[in-house]
Amino acid sequence: MSALAAYASQPELTRGRRHDEAATPTLGQSFRNPHQRDRDRIVHSTAFRRLVYKTQVFLNHEGDLFRTRMTHSLEVAQLGRSIARALHLNEDLVEAIALAHDLGHTPFGHAGQDALNECMSAYGGFEHNLQSLRVVDELEERYPSFNGLNLSFETREGILKHCARRNAELIEEREPKGVAARFLNGTQPSLEAQLCNLADAIAYNAHDIDDGVRSGLLTLEQLQDVPLFWRYYEGVMQEHPQLQSQSRRLLYESIRRMLSDQVYDVISATQAALHVHAPQSADEVRQCPALVKFSEAMFESSQTLKSFLFRNLYRHPQVTQTTDWARDVVRQLFTLYLVKPQEMPPAYAQRSDVPRAVADYISGMTDRFASREHARLTA
Ligand code: MG
Repeated sequence: MSALAAYASQPELTRGRRHDEAATPTLGQSFRNPHQRDRDRIVHSTAFRRLVYKTQVFLNHEGDLFRTRMTHSLEVAQLGRSIARALHLNEDLVEAIALAHDLGHTPFGHAGQDALNECMSAYGGFEHNLQSLRVVDELEERYPSFNGLNLSFETREGILKHCARRNAELIEEREPKGVAARFLNGTQPSLEAQLCNLADAIAYNAHDIDDGVRSGLLTLEQLQDVPLFWRYYEGVMQEHPQLQSQSRRLLYESIRRMLSDQVYDVISATQAALHVHAPQSADEVRQCPALVKFSEAMFESSQTLKSFLFRNLYRHPQVTQTTDWARDVVRQLFTLYLVKPQEMPPAYAQRSDVPRAVADYISGMTDRFASREHARLTA
């Protein structure tokens, strides 16, 4: 890793972990820095392995070549690291946040999350970002003397990218001036956390075009309405007239150029913002406005693409048909476990807050496990 800029999160200045690990010699000393250790803990976690069988747009059984939350997270980490390197940010921290950012997602993508949130509305609600933090703070069982992965403050701060005020207040009570304070006092997270947020959007906008076209749900004719894609597509066609209009290479090369332009755009817009605000430390970054950003023109183009995908892919009848089914599965599972907690494994069945235990259990499920459980319980 190249030398870190003054505004990067310096590993040796970490705000540390919630549980003291000094008493556990193998955890207390290491040739890895704290953020590298966070990344490794995430990679070895149960929740991370489950990302293979969780999906965002397409359900797991619909095809083997569509993105899963695992491949999405790897793509976010790759984009994030490239940009981090160019800006001399802490690549290890970016990688840790990116790999963990979707750990709290329910099965069946947004449909599952919406359904679980509805089911939990009388019991404090369900937010996937908050759930990602719960996974790494509470639900993973790896260590003899504490719950969770005991990650550093900086990684946890990046994982909690949104949080309702009510939940931020609850976290702040448990952990004063902690990871939720910024939602109450309007400050920003580290540049590494800001970067993961943007890398997430860059990644899904691009891979959803790819999956959308390959699945046949999006057509290239429709994509003419998306200038951010179409200008590259036309450019590639002109340069390589031998490629057929339906060719995979044409699609991939257009997406590659689109990704690469967004990456360079973020780097230059962020460098300009860093120049203006000139933060001299990661703590000064937190007092500035958001600094990792697109140029205004790229922001507009990216919003147009996002709303195109929303209208034409996420709301495609074939997609909504399966998401309606998924929503029913989650709702029914919730009701079934609420009435019969003993159908859950003992660690969940024995908890006193039954609705939260049910939400934790369901949200940890993979798409295929949730459908199997649903089949078993409704047989
Ligand atoms: Mg994501």
